[in-house]
Amino acid sequence: MNHIQKKLLAVKTQLPASVTLVAISKTKPNEAIMEAYACGQKIFGENKVQELIAKHEALPKDIQWHMVGHLQTNKVKFIASFISLIHSVDSQKLLEEINKQGAKMNRKVPVLLQVFIAKEESKFGLDEVELTNICEHIHQFQHVEFCGLMGMATNTEDKEVIRKEFKSLRILFTKIKNQYFPSNTSFKEISMGMSGDYHLAIEEGSTMVRVGSSIFGERS
Ligand SMILES: *Cc1c(COP(=O)(O)O)cnc(C)c1O
Repeated sequence: MNHIQKKLLAVKTQLPASVTLVAISKTKPNEAIMEAYACGQKIFGENKVQELIAKHEALPKDIQWHMVGHLQTNKVKFIASFISLIHSVDSQKLLEEINKQGAKMNRKVPVLLQVFIAKEESKFGLDEVELTNICEHIHQFQHVEFCGLMGMATNTEDKEVIRKEFKSLRILFTKIKNQYFPSNTSFKEISMGMSGDYHLAIEEGSTMVRVGSSIFGERS
């Protein structure tokens, strides 16, 4: 087993069976992805549309590609036909465009609504009012499959800050689920946790972790 495969398995053994691992392969070459793939990993996440398209074209077709980065409205059309999950829906305008492209492709595009939980201004995400506004209008998005919420914690060493933010996302998920998606079995994911904080995220109820550098090594 090579280095990437050892690290992938080390991460996997630490995850409860109910938690989905999204291997974040951004900036990493196709060879690195194929090493993880050879070990059984089929879900990969990218944060740039161009890179995502190139990798989708070059690599095996049973890979499930997730978009985890900020997505510009004018780029939705390039990924709408094949994307397995868009984690980063951070505006109603983006959701409208995803719905429009989904209609053109005759598919329901799976998405997570990204919620702003951090203390950093630089992070993207919906606030609670925007989230509620979208949820009040889900019937308008017939070509979107709502699968849950996503959040990124503040980039800090302070574990209690991170824990609080993850906890707030978990509580918000339960509230939104009960109020707007009680009988929708697709709405079940809480995407939270990266290399530095996925243990904490799982303790706080994450169902999907997005792990990059702990598998593929540091990015330059
Ligand atoms: C890069 C990235 C990750 C993975 O970060 P690591 O610290 O390398 O695990 C997770 N989520 C998002 C949205 C990212 O952009």
